[in-house]
Amino acid sequence: MTLESTTGSAAVPDAVPVAAIVPALRTAFERGVTRSLRWRAEQLTALKRMLVERSSEFEDALFLDLGKNPTETQLTEIGIVIAEIEHTLTHLRRWLRPRRVGVPLAIAPASASTMLEPLGVVLVIAPWNYPLQLLLAPMVGALAAGNAVLLKPSELAPATSALMASLVPDYLDPRAVAVVEGGVAETTELLAERFDHIFYTGNGAVGRIVMTAAAKHLTPVTLELGGKSPVYVDDTVDLAVTARRIVWGKFLNAGQTCVAPDYLLATPGVSAALTPHLVEAIGELYDGDPRSSSSYGRIVNDHHFARLTGLLEGERILSGGRSDARTRYLAPTILGDVGRDSPVMQQEIFGPILAMVPVDGLDDAIAFIRVGDKPLALYAFTNSPSTARRILTETSSGAVGFGVPAAHLGIPGLPFGGVGESGMGHYHGRRSVETFSHEKAVLRKRLTPDTLRLIYPPYTERKDGF
Ligand code: NAD
Repeated sequence: MTLESTTGSAAVPDAVPVAAIVPALRTAFERGVTRSLRWRAEQLTALKRMLVERSSEFEDALFLDLGKNPTETQLTEIGIVIAEIEHTLTHLRRWLRPRRVGVPLAIAPASASTMLEPLGVVLVIAPWNYPLQLLLAPMVGALAAGNAVLLKPSELAPATSALMASLVPDYLDPRAVAVVEGGVAETTELLAERFDHIFYTGNGAVGRIVMTAAAKHLTPVTLELGGKSPVYVDDTVDLAVTARRIVWGKFLNAGQTCVAPDYLLATPGVSAALTPHLVEAIGELYDGDPRSSSSYGRIVNDHHFARLTGLLEGERILSGGRSDARTRYLAPTILGDVGRDSPVMQQEIFGPILAMVPVDGLDDAIAFIRVGDKPLALYAFTNSPSTARRILTETSSGAVGFGVPAAHLGIPGLPFGGVGESGMGHYHGRRSVETFSHEKAVLRKRLTPDTLRLIYPPYTERKDGF
């Protein structure tokens, strides 16, 4: 690793066909454009500059795509990526240092270590719900690890996608970073290419398509998927604060958050006591009327709007339920006594509907969680250490949050990712750099004295201590 930027002449020209972009990025990588620590730091700094200088354009694009409030955009999109950049810039040199490991006696004297080497050309495929954060946060790690990157924003957030396509080439090195816009057709075309890593965020059905395409080239994948994240509440907690936190995590981005609480497990007594606090918290967070509140978002498209309003049919609506197809407004909605086999429990809700599912108690809640797919996140509001311990040890999920939903993803030091149906691999901070690197084993052993003679054939005496 040198501190000097190397120069190369491979450039990715404008409007080149997809099939030509990957080879151009590969040429830049092969020429060492992305290798130096200086280049990596320059790219991360330029990315931060783009986010700061063009902040209001991003705020406008996210408002157009999702009705996202500018403050929410700063907190949950731009702010998270900037925090990720700053954390990475602070620690990158240390993360990249070779790590020494011990050597068994039979091989000693020798020195063994590992080093992180960049993989090559990385494809990042992002979804629409946090179209800025989920496109750029993976790229922070990919660039920090010294890779060339191809970004594929979601076509369902078209304003953000177009802005990325126009701004990224102005700020980042166009030899090594490219944006390809488009939907299924373009992504399918991209997936036919050979990448050195594919980082996909989105639903599991497409995750399988991505992994199948990657298998053809033996390309490693990270799949950041979704699913139903439960929240368990017992009677040992302050229900007013609990309600505010759940309402915040649930209705952020109008519920279109991969780590939003999907459904709530509580005994009928706790549910009854919690419901008025939830209703009050909705009023408090959304100015008494979510419909006119600038803090509340909209559903991304007509398809999801129809899907979500369809989920309300036949359910007991405790609060909300109102909708307006023209503006794709769906009120923050709480459903009570939701049956375990009701349609709302058969899919990830991914919208502003909180399903309250009655349970007998902790045993029943844990059993129910274990029957389902492993969630991306699991939340619990309890002051009981034994309940907390049982939740940690008797369930499996990408993350566990006690007393707060969603916030774990804003901590760069924590790995972020799913398990089982909620995904594979993880990122953020050091884990991102590791994800986009190959950890190469390096062994150095002097030729003299030739201590390996102890294990060379012929095996005339026992030499199995090796
Ligand atoms: P989406 O529709 O935007 O799709 C994601 C990406 O896949 C897009 O770039 C899209 O162009 C591409 N794509 C879609 N169909 C494809 C196909 N047939 N072939 C190839 N590429 C295709 O987003 P989505 O899937 O609706 O996103 C919502 C899901 O993502 C939810 O399940 C949510 O929980 C999950 N999610 C997970 C995380 C996480 O970090 N784990 C974050 C956000 C969302």
